[in-house]
Order: sequence, then C-alpha cells, then structure tokens
Amino acid sequence: MKRLALAALAAMALPFTLGSCGEGYEPAANGGIDGARLLNAQADGANWISYGRDYAEQRFSPLAQITTENVGELGLAWAADMDTARGQEATPLVMDGRLYLTTAWSKVKAFDAATGEPLWSFDPQVPGETAVKACCDVVNRGLAAWGDRLFLGTLDGRLVALDRDTGAVVWETVTVDQSKSYTVTGAPRVIDGKVIIGNGGAEFGVRGYIAAYDAVDGEELWRFYTVPDGEETEGSPEYLREAAATWEGDTLTGEDGIGGGGTVWDAMAYDPELDLLYIGVGNGSPWNRAYRSPGADGRGEGDNLYLSSIVALRPSTGEYVWHYQTTPGETWDFTATQHIMLADMEIGGRERQVLMQAPKNGFFYVLDRATGEFISGDPYVTVNWATGIDPETGRPIENPETRIDRTGQPAMVTPGALGGHNWHPMAYHPGENLVYIPAFEAGMVYAPQADWKPDRARGFNVGFDLGAGDLPPDLGFRRQVAGTLRGMLVAWDPVAKKARWSVEHEGPWNGGLLATAGGLVFQGTAGSDFKAFDAASGEELWSFAAQTGIVAPPVTYTVDGQQYVAVLAGWGGAYALSVDGDLMKAKAPVRNISRLLVFRLGAMAALPPEPALADIPLDPPPSRASAQTIALGKAKYARYCAVCHAPGAVGSTVLPDLRRSGTLGNKAAWLSVVHDGLLKDNGMASFAESLSKEEMDAIREYVIARANEDKAMEPQAAD
Ligand code: CA
Repeated sequence: MKRLALAALAAMALPFTLGSCGEGYEPAANGGIDGARLLNAQADGANWISYGRDYAEQRFSPLAQITTENVGELGLAWAADMDTARGQEATPLVMDGRLYLTTAWSKVKAFDAATGEPLWSFDPQVPGETAVKACCDVVNRGLAAWGDRLFLGTLDGRLVALDRDTGAVVWETVTVDQSKSYTVTGAPRVIDGKVIIGNGGAEFGVRGYIAAYDAVDGEELWRFYTVPDGEETEGSPEYLREAAATWEGDTLTGEDGIGGGGTVWDAMAYDPELDLLYIGVGNGSPWNRAYRSPGADGRGEGDNLYLSSIVALRPSTGEYVWHYQTTPGETWDFTATQHIMLADMEIGGRERQVLMQAPKNGFFYVLDRATGEFISGDPYVTVNWATGIDPETGRPIENPETRIDRTGQPAMVTPGALGGHNWHPMAYHPGENLVYIPAFEAGMVYAPQADWKPDRARGFNVGFDLGAGDLPPDLGFRRQVAGTLRGMLVAWDPVAKKARWSVEHEGPWNGGLLATAGGLVFQGTAGSDFKAFDAASGEELWSFAAQTGIVAPPVTYTVDGQQYVAVLAGWGGAYALSVDGDLMKAKAPVRNISRLLVFRLGAMAALPPEPALADIPLDPPPSRASAQTIALGKAKYARYCAVCHAPGAVGSTVLPDLRRSGTLGNKAAWLSVVHDGLLKDNGMASFAESLSKEEMDAIREYVIARANEDKAMEPQAAD
C-alpha cells in the first residue's frame, strides 16, 4: 500500500469534528463537500474536489477506462474559449457533473462537465493595474470547495466565497494590505471548515504569511508569518524569535524596513492522521542576501529562516511544529513553494511516511513528514550552486563562486531564478512508485548591484543587476544560448534517488501533470501539444495539436460512467513573459489561445482553424540618443520593464513587443502610457511613482536602439 490510506482513515475517528461550522450552514447539505468527502477524495474517481486531487496532493486518479491500450482513440469532446488572453494555470474542480475553473484575472467559470454547456461565470473585477504587482503574469491556479461554496483568491488579495450553484458572492474579505505589492494566485485549501490561503510579492518587498479564514463568514482565524519583522520581543511566538536570530542586521526593522519575503504563494498539503498542514515558503526580499541580512561586513550572513523552507503547522491554530530549510541563506530566488506531495513507501527497509518536493534549487527532497527529518536530496536537473546535500546535517554543500553579494564578478548559476521546476504540479503513480516532474534547465547570470535601495512603489527590485545578463544582440549567440534551454518530463524514483526515465521536450516551461491508474501520464507542452505517456516507460502514446502552449495541469473525472480528461490551455507565466520571442517564433509560434480542452474516448470534435499570427514589421525610428541616455534606459528597463516585456526588449509572445510599439516614435504617446497610465486597465500601470519622465523617455530610446539592432540582423535571421 503505497498510497496514503485516507479512505480507511475516513472511517475512523476524524482528527476534527465534522459539521462544526456555524449555525445555519450545513456543509454536507445538497451533496456539498465536507470533511469526509475530502478525506475520501483519493478513492472518489468521478470527482476532482481539491486542487491536488486529495490532501496528499498526489494528482493520481484511480480511473482506468482510458488506458495505455486505448488512449490512441482519445478525441476532443468539447472545448470552451476563455475571455482572457493571458497565462492559464488553473486546475479545474469537478463535482457531480459540473466543472469549475479559474482563468487569468481571477475569473471563475462553471460548465456542464459532459456537454460543455456554460452554467455561470464570475468576474471579481480585479483592477487592471494590479498586474504590475505580479511577478509572473496575472494567473490563478484554482478554487477550493466546502459545503455548497467555492473559494477564490483574487490577484488583488481578496478571498471570495461563491455559491456553487449560481456563482453569487456569499462573502468576500481582503486578506492583504492592498497598499503593498501582495498578490494572490494560488488555490486555497479547506481543512475542517477553515479556508487557507497565502500570497505572493517577494520580488516587491512584502512580508510573507499564510492565514486561515472561517468558511462561514470569512473571519480570519489565524495568521502565520514566515519571517520576522525585526520587532520580536519576549511576547512574540518562539518560532519567530528563533527565526530573528538567523537574520543579521536591522534591515527588517522600522518604517523603512524590508518585508523580508518568504511568501507562501502555492504549495500546501495535509496529513489528517498527523494533523499537520505543510506549506512551502518562498524566496527572500530582496533576493540578494547581502542587502537583506548584511551581517557585520555587509557581505551577507545568516540562514534567514523560514525562507525557502517547508514548514509543518497545526491547521486548527496555525501553530509551528517543524521546518526544513532547502536553501539556507537563500539568494537566488530559490523558493520552496513548489508542489509538496505526501506518500508512504519503504526506504532502507523501513516503511516511511514521506513528504516530497522538487523545489527551484534543483534537488529532489524526501523528508520524514512526521518529524521533518532529512531522508535524501539529489539533483533532478543540472545544478552548479551546490555539489550535494550533507546527509548528516541536510544542508547543501555550496559552491562559493555562485554566491554574489553587492560587488564582484557575475556568475552563471544553474538552476536560475525560474528553477529546475517551478509551480507546475507534479504527479505520483503509486504502482510505479514514481514522481513525475515537469523539469527544465535555464541557467541565469546573477550580477551584483552596488546601489540597491528599497522601492515599494513599482518594479522588480531584487538586489541584482538583472540587465547584466542580457544577451548581446547577435542572433547566432542568442540561438546558441537558447539551445542550452531544456525541458524534460522526469520520472523520478524517490527510493533509488534517480530518474527511471525522462522525456525531452522542445524547450522549458511545459505543463503540469496527471497520472492515472490506466497507466498514463498526461502533459501539455510549451510546444503546443497535449500528450499522453506510458507511466512505466515514458513512451509517447498519444498527442493532440492544441494550437497554444499549455502550462496548466490536466484533470480527469467521470460523468455517467464516461471518463473525461480536461486541461486548460493558454501559454503564459514567468518564462513565457521573459523568453526571447524572436527565437520562440524561429522554432515554433507559441502564442496564447486560452481555451478549455476536454477529451474522451471516441470523440471526434475539432478545434476551429488556427488563427494566423499577427506579423507586425520591425520598423523603428532611427536611433539618435546618446550612449549615456541609452545606458540609463537599459538600466531602468531591466528594473521596471523586463519582467513582463522580456529582458533585452526581445519581445515575449504573450505581451506587447515594445520594439514594435506604435508609440516608439512619439514621446508624448509613450509618456501617456508609461507616465499617465493610459493602458492601466489592460494591466500596464503608471510608473510615475518610480520613474521620472526623463527616465521613461530614456527607456524609449533604449528600446529604439534595440529595435534598430534587431532590424539590422533581419537578413541574418532569415538564414
Ligand atoms: Ca520569487
């Protein structure tokens, strides 16, 4: 028995009291979701009632109607176009024949899961300019369910309870200080009527936490901060006083204090038997430890708990139980917010209750989930920042050349800030005892920034010179670098501590995963396909041309005994915004066509013809600015623009390519957008609080210069 025995457990005395919600609200009424259904979620093949399918977050379905033998007969049953052309990352929930999903901009839609008939939709009206607070696109990863309600976290930090039948708002509450750059993109989880949600913003100076809200009325029940605020006293919780001792210096303190980061923006898992909630904690703010925790000589000191840690909490109270820090003294944006998965397996002759994670730092961790004890940590991609994990201490053995402080030489570090694996969910197959990882390789140059200052107003502000890693505008060199980018589906054996098989994709940033008892692993790709692989061997058994890059994970369910597989297609997210758009087009046109795709055996529906790519010629005005102005523009572009419009202004495929902007030759028109916020409702906020008009115009001159460089290379590109 490799799976958690949740079904058996559900029949035993539960660790919490069912039906303990307030008067007038019966969670189990009208077939709603209650504690027993959530504990039984793994065995409930017909439905998909929680983000990771069950509390163990295994994303393994017991359905076996679609198998390795017949998957070739899988066809499109229905599709539904979305009204947002941004990254789509959501895991749909399916309950009793209805499918509920979230889209970019935190919208919610409900469908008949068999026919695709739209039932209702909900738009929380997130202000467009919220986009500038989001590091990684205006995405949303999904809903939680309890009783007859659905729970949604919105990009601008609200938690909203919706009536599952109608989409009507039952209550909503603001979970963050909206004057700061907090965002919510993750899916809530519900444990015993408590709706649990964290937030993001560690690139923008916030202090991370996770909190629980009463499903009845949205009242906040507890809040767990992941990092100290520098004001810890005798009366502060012990875990925060212990954390404070691992931060060196006073940068967290006072009015000008830094938030420290440590946001809990994605992973959670729950073990009902141990009654432990596991959370994944993010990177430091700023990234560069030398600014965040300078130490005596200003070069950075201290582990900075609980950054980049897996923390176990008591879900009823938010009480700290244990932690394991994957990257002590985090400085590379190596979050531990990636998928946390629970399973039971025999290791070294002992039955172990384990917790597994493939965080950004490139090591696959196996921990004892009762105690946090380190069992193993082995590289699942190429890693150069550490040579391994010390088995005695569980600490990484660092390569000192990759730790950059305020000055000195840049270093190429792998994995880079996107990680060896990002938010894309893994999946587990208990029969194979394999964890499938949507992994990739994309190293990054970290260069020192000597004059960093906090700026809470706007901009990606991490304490490194992000412009220093821009590629020279030589297309051959750019292609060479792009050739080092890899995307893989890795089938990881957590006992043997190595890959059993892996499949090479066209490039990084492929979709999340689903494993089934039919012996299949499903994955969408950055190369615009939706594929099925043999879970045992990795052999590709089926592929569907989806017309758009897929990053979201699939789900499977049944209606009237018929098995369906559904995936929300639509290219986007951090890599899609920062990738070299020219090179993506050279390889294959990856764009965003946001659409839910639903498959079943024998279905024959077809997608509408693929729309033609808009091909706007590169026709910039001549570059006449001084080298000094262009250099100023380059530095400001790297800080304020690159995270959405691609480093080096090379033009992502999702957001406008500024080299082709109609405002490039018109200073007043440019300032109407960048200064006056003309396009704020589309997500392009005003940068007037952070940049002078002179700096904004220097950015325009830099983009003009870049556009001319690339225009001059067009004959080379045509070869
Ligand atoms: Ca981050």
